[in-house]
Amino acid sequence: MDNKLPAGWSIRNSTGAWAAPSHPDDDSDNDGDEGENVRANFRGAVGAEDGLTEEDLRPDSPGWEDVEDDSEKDSYQCLLCEVTKSKVREVVEHGKDVHNFDFDKIRKDHSLDFFGTLQLINYIRTAVKQHDPATLDFANLDKATFVQDQYMQPTMEDDALLYSIDDLADPNDPKDPLAQQREDDAEAQAGEGGGSKVLAERALRQ
Ligand SMILES: [Zn+2]
Repeated sequence: MDNKLPAGWSIRNSTGAWAAPSHPDDDSDNDGDEGENVRANFRGAVGAEDGLTEEDLRPDSPGWEDVEDDSEKDSYQCLLCEVTKSKVREVVEHGKDVHNFDFDKIRKDHSLDFFGTLQLINYIRTAVKQHDPATLDFANLDKATFVQDQYMQPTMEDDALLYSIDDLADPNDPKDPLAQQREDDAEAQAGEGGGSKVLAERALRQ
């Protein structure tokens, strides 16, 4: 883009910002009416002449939208690399395809329920943080390695996977404890007043 702006002006749009050096002369009094009008119009179209304000830098201000639209709100990061997916099961499939990492099989081997799965996720993220994933063998894990209180704490900040553990249930395994759990919840909600969850919700409403 042409960087030749009138002295003292700056431009800002979604591709960046440009500023010209300030006026060579003292401009405090000799701008004249015509110059002021032109500048006022220009300001309305592309931004203030006095540079970026705090308001301009907020992510919700104009010019940021295109960039922000590309990032998914719910993005689930692979356990072994930086890749993110918009769906939980896509993370599992990615693991199988790219890393030869079969999360379903590991969960099945250890019959992992909700909390076991939560601990496994945090354990793996911790291990990957500390070691090269290529050197780690998660297929032959000892359950005692990851079923530990310390792995109840999230390893990764805002780990979306931890909020969607139920969605990790293996669709090809009707006996998956996560799928069982979901059925139990559904049954409890369908039944007449049965289920602790329903009772708890009812109690909270009163
Ligand atoms: Zn990956």
